[in-house]
Amino acid sequence: QQKRYVGLRDKSATSVDGTTVSLMMNAGLMADLPSLEGSGAEGVGLFRTELQFLTRANVPKRGELAALYSRVLDAAGGKRVVFRTLDIGSDKVLPYMKPTEEPNPALGWRAIRVGLDKPGVMRMQVQALIRAAAGRDLSVMFPFIAQFDEFSEAKAIFYRELEREKRMGHRLPATVEVGAMLETPSLAFAPRQFFEEADFISIGGNDLKQFFFAADRENERVRRRYDTLNTSFLNLIDMIVHRCAEARTPLSFCGEDAGRPVEAVCFAALGMQSLSMRPASVGPVKHLIRRTDLGELREVMDAARRSGLQSVREPVMDYLFRRET
Ligand code: PEP
Ligand code: MG
Repeated sequence: QQKRYVGLRDKSATSVDGTTVSLMMNAGLMADLPSLEGSGAEGVGLFRTELQFLTRANVPKRGELAALYSRVLDAAGGKRVVFRTLDIGSDKVLPYMKPTEEPNPALGWRAIRVGLDKPGVMRMQVQALIRAAAGRDLSVMFPFIAQFDEFSEAKAIFYRELEREKRMGHRLPATVEVGAMLETPSLAFAPRQFFEEADFISIGGNDLKQFFFAADRENERVRRRYDTLNTSFLNLIDMIVHRCAEARTPLSFCGEDAGRPVEAVCFAALGMQSLSMRPASVGPVKHLIRRTDLGELREVMDAARRSGLQSVREPVMDYLFRRET
């Protein structure tokens, strides 16, 4: 299957009408990094940092984490790697965290909420990232930001640690960028200043969709009910694209849907600049983007939205299929 796409590896994901989309891969382990070369991804758009915390009995040491992150950057060979700070809590309970009984864990004390309330671990992780990047580019993003001040506070913690590392005489990263994951509908409606303050924004589509439709991402029964190509969801994506464009803030999408070719071309048609997905999806997504006129697809989607359809999937599939035959 992968062999089919080998020829595309070094080609860009440029559509028939000349728009280039940046395709990145998701990772979470050192062992994922070799896929960067083979998949044809431009970099790692989402490095999930939970695994190193979940698989051991104690909090990992700063030195260990710094060594791992440094090896990840080595393996990426200068390609961009976006590290997401710890996204745990509630359902993903750390063995050394006091378990808290919560009636709705997905809506509970998780991710950045833990990071801001008990900043010790997040500060340590940020220090490890800064040390690992010494002399190289560092991209960090914070998960599950629901309102502007959570991002400002997290960013302030990052810059405080950067200052501290500087005072201590450590070599600093060559460049830093600090971004936010947009995973709750509330953030799409945040003040304009939020969009300006973020160096980049990445849509966590798995969570965004779950909270938009109020449908548990783990519950097949309700999850399948709501199509990602539902016009209401696309209206939300459209709005986020526009708000980011207004603020000139780079936007990407890193949920599972980014790796589904039909969904991916639709996002690209709405103006999504970058998509991050599992490595095996890069080839198929690139293949479809290269065969699609995104402007035409956009017209098909807009017509479907105007006509009051609930989902654009059928007309989009018709359009894409017509071109294939
Ligand atoms: C998401 O929510 O889409 C995402 C990328 O993060 P995770 O799947 O790790 O929650
Ligand atoms: Mg998420």
